[in-house]
Amino acid sequence: MNCNLIAGEWVQGPSSIANVNPSDTDDVIGLYTQADAAQARLAVEAAHHAQQTWQYSPIQERFEILDRIGTELLARQEELGRLLSREEGKTLREGIAEVARAGYVFKFFGGEALRLAGELLPSTRPGLTVEITREPVGTIGIITPWNFPIAIPSWKIAPALCYGNSVVFKPAELVPGSAWALAEIISRSGLPKGVFNLVMGRGGIVGEVLISAPEVRALSFTGSAATGANIAAKAVARGAKIQLEMGGKNPLVILDDADLSTAVNVAVNGAFFSTGQRCTASSRLIVTPGIYDRFLPALTERIAALRVGNALAPQTDIGPVVDETQLRVDQRYIEIGRAEGAKLELGGKLLVLDRPGHYLEPALFTETTSKMRINQEEIFGPVASVIRVRDYDEALHVANDVAVGLSSGIITTSLKYAADFRRRSQAGMVMVNVPTAGVDYHVPFGGRKESSYGPREQGRYAAEFYSSVKTAYISP
Ligand code: NAD
Repeated sequence: MNCNLIAGEWVQGPSSIANVNPSDTDDVIGLYTQADAAQARLAVEAAHHAQQTWQYSPIQERFEILDRIGTELLARQEELGRLLSREEGKTLREGIAEVARAGYVFKFFGGEALRLAGELLPSTRPGLTVEITREPVGTIGIITPWNFPIAIPSWKIAPALCYGNSVVFKPAELVPGSAWALAEIISRSGLPKGVFNLVMGRGGIVGEVLISAPEVRALSFTGSAATGANIAAKAVARGAKIQLEMGGKNPLVILDDADLSTAVNVAVNGAFFSTGQRCTASSRLIVTPGIYDRFLPALTERIAALRVGNALAPQTDIGPVVDETQLRVDQRYIEIGRAEGAKLELGGKLLVLDRPGHYLEPALFTETTSKMRINQEEIFGPVASVIRVRDYDEALHVANDVAVGLSSGIITTSLKYAADFRRRSQAGMVMVNVPTAGVDYHVPFGGRKESSYGPREQGRYAAEFYSSVKTAYISP
């Protein structure tokens, strides 16, 4: 049984869940304990207590701890990548890359601990000096989704620790394996007991404790819009700081002057890799008429050649859908698309392979319009649609014609259109001739409109959320 980490001790909760491999549902990866509300409270108290000392920890100590965690993640990327792919269903290549990314995130924030700095300014009043410093926020509640089981926790935990905060981490129920492995590495990193706590358990139980506990001064959440709205309402009411990263409905614009092979590669990668289960996936391919008749056959040929299979098999391009619930959502949206009058160009059928798993053929809709539900609502599966538009202006309008704005992309050889799109796209991240998904670890990540709320994650911008600014006036 894999236990929770509370106040530096591994403790069992009152129940447990089985971690099931979506590529082979007969394969149980392990049993993971589930905390109740009382155990979650203990974790909050432990974190609050430990933070009283940790907030004053030397930057050299923070650097060494974070760097050590990063080093171990990188050294074990193959092994942990395999675990990640086995429990989440992304391909082994993607799983290993995600673990490596987590390692680099820890190393980056190790370096940031050494670069902590303030400002010294003259005052407008004679003789005074103004000093601006960053201080820890306190105890941070971290609530994460299943689709990036090690990278997302890492890009929240690492900056939290870097800036002197303590952490209570609640991973998604579906992927406790990667979370537990990360916690186990952190538990041996030299971090004082209680500074980092792992509380696996149900969102409605453990998550609710984090949202309402007065000691939790800030909540960093990534997940669905519905859960984000619940957190926002309750946390803001008690004055806690929040950072929410939620859904996307990301457009990829393909203009007449695009390089065809770049367009096809970027579209296939963005729409279907990681089984389309990325908040930055390109689910809307917006295509102008001059390239449409060349792009569509080239795209469908590539999609038809994608090999769907066991996430751990070397030849697999696309692994399974994460679980039966998400599979049903994907299938329901395929039905909704048909009912709305879209043409299912290819894919969308369940696949029966040699092992029982949640396998779905990547699906592509054509003859769709921007207002269809399949083009407005996040599906979060291997389902994309093509929207044919008259020209660049309509493409830009359609790209922005959704309530969310996480990532967007354009494929063009025109400097003019690339520059205009970068400026006018209503998204937090804009990609030119590269997939909408796939980002660096040292620069800000986040969206606009209903995709995100609060300060950006990652890179130096993470300091905005994980630290609190103090302005001091000094008279000699
Ligand atoms: P989810 O909202 O169902 O769950 C996310 C986390 O919230 C889980 O740990 C869950 O246990 C917890 N939770 C559920 N109910 C809760 C409650 N009442 N109180 C507190 N916590 C609660 O999301 P999911 O299905 O795990 O993830 C998929 C979603 O995540 C998609 O919408 C996707 O777009 C989004 N996502 C966004 C980003 C981004 O950076 N914008 C990145 C990855 C995923």
